[in-house]
Amino acid sequence: AKEMGRDSYKSYAPQLTTKYDQKLLIEKKLRHALELRSFELFYQPQVDLKNQQVVGAEALLRWHDKELGTLPPDVFIPIAEKSGLIIQIGDWVLEEACREAKTWADNGQALRVGVNISPLQFQRPDFVNKVKKVLQRTGLDPSLLDLEITENDLLYHQEESLDTLRRLKAEGIRISIDDFGTGYSSLSYLRQFPVDTLKIDKSFIKDVLMNKKDQAIVTSIIQLAHNMKMRVIAEGVETKNMLPFLFEQQCDEMQGFLYSRPVPAASLAEYMEASRSA
Ligand code: C2E
Ligand code: CA
Ligand code: CA
Ligand code: CA
Repeated sequence: AKEMGRDSYKSYAPQLTTKYDQKLLIEKKLRHALELRSFELFYQPQVDLKNQQVVGAEALLRWHDKELGTLPPDVFIPIAEKSGLIIQIGDWVLEEACREAKTWADNGQALRVGVNISPLQFQRPDFVNKVKKVLQRTGLDPSLLDLEITENDLLYHQEESLDTLRRLKAEGIRISIDDFGTGYSSLSYLRQFPVDTLKIDKSFIKDVLMNKKDQAIVTSIIQLAHNMKMRVIAEGVETKNMLPFLFEQQCDEMQGFLYSRPVPAASLAEYMEASRSA
């Protein structure tokens, strides 16, 4: 900002500042939001393709700032990662998601809850103990917690990752590979990593009916997963006409705008209640 002094605050308006200033502002506001616990989790249903039942929900972080508006996680999570704030934000997300899933179970609707884990969280030596403590505090059945990790993150410190995964599996916690197919890895890691679910990235699903190559990739991922006793979730399912293809390929679950956008916890609970009494 050129003019310092009393009006310098105004110059923080996003369009007037450099990218660097913007990031600093977002970081400052993230810190504040963390203190005030002013984040929110939305939940997006995951639906079993065979019986159309909701079997899980992915927790997705939402943040509204008075001045900056609603910023998408793709914008603020990288900043939270660079500043290290993602550790505390991630702790909050994990605890909040487990607490919410526990209320679903208590209300007779045991759904899995998917929680996105940043590589910085996953690589911390205390990660497994943290997760165990959250499960103890919230009373959530470990088999209802599904940690979503991307393949690049797992392969960064391969030996430590394998050890962490084994300890999580020993607790009965579920592991999903997020955005599967978009990493740079070879497939060989799947031989040794104890993984329950592959989530096929939405970029392969988007044009799957028109694009033969995407079709080949999706079909191969499903076969690979099933041959290795893993489940498959298709992400980013937006249109009805994809369902026959996914069903025919025996994809296990789908997640996407077709069924529901991510919604506040209360809306999901209401929906589940309505579908039960229907
Ligand atoms: P992701 O884990 O791949 O999450 C799925 C994203 O796809 C979500 O975006 C979701 O709203 C969007 N989506 C769902 N269905 C559809 C669809 O049918 N079509 C399209 N085009 N998009 C769909 P969102 O909520 O903006 O999150 C973006 C990313 O931010 C997430 O990608 C994840 O990497 C990250 N993220 C979100 N919440 C958290 C969190 O609590 N912790 C961490 N570490 N990362 C998070
Ligand atoms: Ca995810
Ligand atoms: Ca994903
Ligand atoms: Ca992602």
